[in-house]
Amino acid sequence: MKVASVLIPLPVPEAFDYEVAAEMAVERGDQVAVPLGPRLMRGIVSEVRETTGSNRRLKAVEMVLDDPRLPPGTVDFVEWAARWTLSAPGEMASTALKGLRAPRPKPERRVRRVEGREPARPTASRTAVLETLEGRSMPGADLARAAGVSSGVVKGLVDDGVLEVIEIEAVAAFDTPDPDHAPSILNADQAASASAIAEAVEAGGFAPFLLDGVTGSGKTEAYLEAVARALRADPTAQILILLPEIALTQALIARLSDRFGADPAEWHSGIAPPRRRQVWEAVVAGRCNIVVGARSALFLPFVNLKLIVVDEEHDSSFKQEEGLVYHGRDLAVARARIEGAAVVLASATPSLETLFNAGQGRYRWLKLGARHGTAVLPDIRLLDLRQNPPDPQTWLSVPLREAIGETLLKGEQTLLFLNRRGYAPVVLCRACGHRLTAPDTDSWLVEHRYTGRLVCHLTGFSMARPKTCPSCGASDSLVAVGPGVERVEEEVRQLFPEARTAVFSSDTVPDARAARALIQSMIDGEIDILVATQAAAKGHNFPKLTLVGVVDADLGLRGGDLRAAERTFQLLTQATGRAGRAEIPGRALLQTWTPEHPVLRALAAGDRDGFVEAEMDEREAASLPPFGRLAALILSGENAVAVEKTAEALAQSIPNAERLEVYGPADAPLALIRGRRRKRLLVRADRDVDLQGFLRAWLGRVKVPASVRLTIDVDPYSF
Ligand code: ADP
Ligand code: ZN
Repeated sequence: MKVASVLIPLPVPEAFDYEVAAEMAVERGDQVAVPLGPRLMRGIVSEVRETTGSNRRLKAVEMVLDDPRLPPGTVDFVEWAARWTLSAPGEMASTALKGLRAPRPKPERRVRRVEGREPARPTASRTAVLETLEGRSMPGADLARAAGVSSGVVKGLVDDGVLEVIEIEAVAAFDTPDPDHAPSILNADQAASASAIAEAVEAGGFAPFLLDGVTGSGKTEAYLEAVARALRADPTAQILILLPEIALTQALIARLSDRFGADPAEWHSGIAPPRRRQVWEAVVAGRCNIVVGARSALFLPFVNLKLIVVDEEHDSSFKQEEGLVYHGRDLAVARARIEGAAVVLASATPSLETLFNAGQGRYRWLKLGARHGTAVLPDIRLLDLRQNPPDPQTWLSVPLREAIGETLLKGEQTLLFLNRRGYAPVVLCRACGHRLTAPDTDSWLVEHRYTGRLVCHLTGFSMARPKTCPSCGASDSLVAVGPGVERVEEEVRQLFPEARTAVFSSDTVPDARAARALIQSMIDGEIDILVATQAAAKGHNFPKLTLVGVVDADLGLRGGDLRAAERTFQLLTQATGRAGRAEIPGRALLQTWTPEHPVLRALAAGDRDGFVEAEMDEREAASLPPFGRLAALILSGENAVAVEKTAEALAQSIPNAERLEVYGPADAPLALIRGRRRKRLLVRADRDVDLQGFLRAWLGRVKVPASVRLTIDVDPYSF
């Protein structure tokens, strides 16, 4: 008898077996309807096999659905990703079907001539309509406009049966990119990198690369050339370019359109579902070559994937922590391995993991030297705030103010960087010292002046700013403590009333369109001083920007997190790298209370290698990533006792393992969110330990009650 294993979107670790009727043709990757209890469920066939005899009473596959079959590479990838992240394979598989669950775009209604029917009363406007239409079909409103008549005339012709309304299925056409549309002339480093990637693509097989070069060195230009060569070698090649942030996609799409004379497909949460469905269907049909997307694009059903680019590969936004927990960069490498494709990790500040892999020879290390053309890296200086303390309740020191003034006089632009949304990160009561937090949550409320609200950035909770202290009832006692971008902008406006200022953060720039508009006005020179969070620090090119001021360079260094130093180094390198991207040289000033901090000293000296070496030594001494591996188990629930008990039960049943330690349970970093208690257990293992195997064995010993949610985070980003 024939048996199919079917992945069903349920939180269980295995596929379900079903009998396949003899006459039913089923293959791996097929979408099927199968009975589960009283319901029919959609599932994906992960395996079809012959078994002897009817060993068990299996239910039968109801039918094979009329939806596209998932390509083998996609099924392999989904199964691998589920094993790696210890997630349910059926749920992983259903992420690969996200695009299909969207409704189809509405069909377009058009009118066309009914053959052999002439208008009973031919008027001048009716004749105009019929002449305009000729043998075509058109939307009625467009036709009326083109014929210069009211839409009533068209409707009259439809009523008379001279025209008929037809519905046309909206099939997205993706123009074929032309590799020779507008080629660039590459410098020697770029050409060597592009060739190495292109040759690997042509040779076929898994080939991972680190593309390493300072901001503005022309990494994008280099990988676009590799894309062009991949397309020249195989016009059906599919290429996936992943970006960490939706705000960056528009600029890259514009570059791709210029380079290849065709728009790529776009895939991220900001794309309307009907459009996503069109992209999904085009990808699985091989009708679409280039996809630019967020990490979820990794689950698209590519049929001929040749190259994946992960741009800004170090960026923590590639890590997904809600729902399925995975790192987009790591999964991109896995997908390339499964598909036998090349993968390019590009960054000016690669993650230590990637540098480690490149150093060990697992990835080929491609280096781009200087900035392209005449642009040079900005001159970076530390401003010691101990010697230049800002006035009370202000955040800009005298030297930074002077630099902004000089830049304004020269007609150039300034970026003030502070990675804090809103007006003030903390609101507290002067009378009793109470700090305002969201209900049942450990996170402070952030004051937003533009909207006049206090907002919890973790849960999204918000409330009007209260008149009295919610704790002691004192009136007019609440004060905003510390600066956010809105507050720095307020100070800038007071200091430079004539300057044109703007704030760039996820609050002022909520979507891709707003981001595009603000970026464009910056490029057009309509803004003198931009105060920005990391949303603007990444990737953008502002030719007239010559001064970057980092308001609080110590900010990211304060937490004792595993990646605090690495992240700060990356973020500040990105931020300061915004200055001087074109002909005019730039400079960056970093305000700090700790100018002796090794991270800041390395930044000022432009000494990335020195920083990496020191940080690697520390990680190696502690056997932390990339020298060891981590996993976090987070238990959460409204019932604190149940959470506590489950954590204890886990702690009591740790399997014996060598070169591996378990820490905790302890309060998770955010121990209370929306009334849910959170406990955490941490695992550290040597690199060669089978961490996933250990976790599976461990979790098999403990029953987690329904009231407690267990989240497994393999290779957690923060620690
Ligand atoms: P990166 O990705 O390393 O930040 P980009 O590829 O964006 O660098 O290049 C930075 C700037 O230099 C861009 O404006 C780009 O158009 C320009 N540029 C890079 N390489 C070339 C080249 N070979 N010819 C012309 N312009 C280039
Ligand atoms: Zn109070």
